[in-house]
Amino acid sequence: EVRVRFAPSPTGRLHIGGARTAIFNWAFARATGGTFILRIEDTDPERSTRENVDVILNAMTWLGLNWDEGPQVGGPRGPYFQMQRMDTYRAALEDLKRRGAAYPCFCTKEQLDAKRAQAEAAEGGYAGYDRTCRACSAEEAQRRIEAGEPHVWRLRVPGDHGPVTFDDAVYGSMSFPIDVMDDMILVRTDGSPTYNFAVVCDDVNMGITHVLRGDDHLSNTPRQILIYEALGAPVPTFAHLSMILGPDGKKLSKRHGATSVEEYRDRGYLSDAVVNFLALLGWSLDGETTIIDRARLCEAFSLERITKKDAVFDETKLDWMNGMYVRDLKPDAWATLARPWLERAGADDAFFTRFPNWAQVSYLALNERLAHLDEIPEKLAFLFWGPQVPELDEKSVQKVLLKEGARADEALRALRAVLADERVAWEAEALQEACRAVCDQLDMKPKLVFQPLRVAVCGIMVSPPLFECFELMKRADVVARVDDVLG
Ligand code: GLU
Repeated sequence: EVRVRFAPSPTGRLHIGGARTAIFNWAFARATGGTFILRIEDTDPERSTRENVDVILNAMTWLGLNWDEGPQVGGPRGPYFQMQRMDTYRAALEDLKRRGAAYPCFCTKEQLDAKRAQAEAAEGGYAGYDRTCRACSAEEAQRRIEAGEPHVWRLRVPGDHGPVTFDDAVYGSMSFPIDVMDDMILVRTDGSPTYNFAVVCDDVNMGITHVLRGDDHLSNTPRQILIYEALGAPVPTFAHLSMILGPDGKKLSKRHGATSVEEYRDRGYLSDAVVNFLALLGWSLDGETTIIDRARLCEAFSLERITKKDAVFDETKLDWMNGMYVRDLKPDAWATLARPWLERAGADDAFFTRFPNWAQVSYLALNERLAHLDEIPEKLAFLFWGPQVPELDEKSVQKVLLKEGARADEALRALRAVLADERVAWEAEALQEACRAVCDQLDMKPKLVFQPLRVAVCGIMVSPPLFECFELMKRADVVARVDDVLG
């Protein structure tokens, strides 16, 4: 049975790279009928915060990456916060001591620094800890510990150990020479476990079968394998995921703009689109398919189709993809997602009550035109201005009103009459028809007639479809705005 985990450190938000790792683990568990575990690696007390934990959990929930074991849901191998698992690390150390695989080291920082400096100056360079304390007999070690001498616990790497090898599911066969691996510290002077030790203890105790994680951890893997071996535990399958690069070919970072899931959510990206997009950063269904929903992903995900080529984060592609998902939204989903953005544009409760069809209308007016939902406030702000446009766009006034002069005035006067006419239903189709009649009547091209109206009502010559939008405005307000321009 497959058991995988996503193990974020709550030292910041959930980043794009972390989210991609989470998606791969989740999809792999779902595709194999396995278990997806969320573990919080909060052993860095200075940088881990409760707030970051919440932010990460919220982001996971928003992405729809439900975990089978972890915070909030619990599970048989908990607790799922490393800080609450200290006794398991102590027990693992006891186990290693019994096996003769760990030994105390009393070398002070000063001594270690001096040795290091000396080795670096000499030919051959520094080859890791020189294993001084291995020579310390069990009795002497015991005596020094009892005397309260500060010490760490190190892994006793077997003298006859050959290179550390493993078959990475993405990178293939890997081999690391043993002589670059020193006797790493497992437990620090203060009794806290090192990162590599805690991760291995947890992965063993949680029965993890596959470790999918960023390839920034690749150099930790041989060290961790030595710990598995020392514990006599089976080594899981590793799959290291290639880096995510910005469009400039450099590792994705803040410099490239938004990097946390939260930021994308707040900018009005849909979680379906973000999951789809991230799933394709380093994995593909068939090398062609670009639109893959969660269900399909959960069915089709496989380690074989993960590529070791670095993935490029192309926000233009994300925008395109998000636009596809926006166009695909069902009316109810649109209503739920769009409402807060309309509120930001200026809609209050009275608006939603007055125009019960606000969702259909705004969907028709906008859905073809949006890359992400945070464009809604800007595009629809004019609905909420009441009888007066705060400021006309100067370029639009020049191009549409002044250049056409008398003709524009003439068109607006005729339109004003139509719009003010209570016999014309205040409804997109009827309004459109009545205003079109004005074009024939004046023998003017539609553009020449409608552009001045657009500027008068929206303040600018580009806007979502006018007549649809009128349905979400009061007749009196529209007429007043036209009057304003006519002066
Ligand atoms: N906590 C580690 C990180 O956030 C992940 C460790 C792992 O996946 O093995 O980078």
